[in-house]
Amino acid sequence: MTSTAADLAARIDALLPQSQCRLCGYAGCLPYAEALAAGRAGINQCPPGGDTTVRELAAVLDAPYQPVDPRFGATKPPAVALIDEKLCIGCTLCIEACPVDAIVGASKLMHTVIADACTGCELCLPPCPVDCISMAPTGVQPSREELRDTAAAARLRFERRNARRARELAERRAAGRVNTATVNERIVQRAMERARQRLATKGPRNK
Ligand code: SF4
Ligand code: SF4
Ligand code: SF4
Repeated sequence: MTSTAADLAARIDALLPQSQCRLCGYAGCLPYAEALAAGRAGINQCPPGGDTTVRELAAVLDAPYQPVDPRFGATKPPAVALIDEKLCIGCTLCIEACPVDAIVGASKLMHTVIADACTGCELCLPPCPVDCISMAPTGVQPSREELRDTAAAARLRFERRNARRARELAERRAAGRVNTATVNERIVQRAMERARQRLATKGPRNK
């Protein structure tokens, strides 16, 4: 990618919600921003950003306005994940799935969502084997300014998580344990794929 394209992708990324939900069909907000900068994606593929983001993308890219394409999912009111701690078996699969490290817990121990860090991406719902995670609407619609601050914090958490996972993978490779890790990652990937399919065809499970 040229520096001009990278600059444009960074400007676009700054407009995206940073939910990292993958509903747009890309592996996060930055890959979608890069596809937009390269003219490979439409401006109407980010349901969490909704109409506001579409209008901002149209302005930056000098493209005609189009409403969010419902095939990518529905734009929903802000919500955060909530774990029913009485049911949680401490399997840690939700921690694996959360792109912004918004869940704390340890193997065989109860897990909890850090509400301030949760982007509402819903990626933790499908992997839970006991179905004890639900989405709770916050009942508050933040201002654009507040959304930008939240997005910046989510981007940072996502980047830190990716860096940590890359480090852990390198350590596992060095210790000859990469196969186990790969199998676990495949399980999470499949669960996340099911989440995307469910969201695309049926809408959220708590409606
Ligand atoms: S918030 Fe979700 S749909 Fe929007 S750009 Fe980021 S990953 Fe894609
Ligand atoms: S806790 Fe669940 S809904 Fe919240 S950010 Fe993490 S994966 Fe997404
Ligand atoms: S996936 Fe469900 S059961 Fe497993 S740790 Fe998370 S909340 Fe608990």
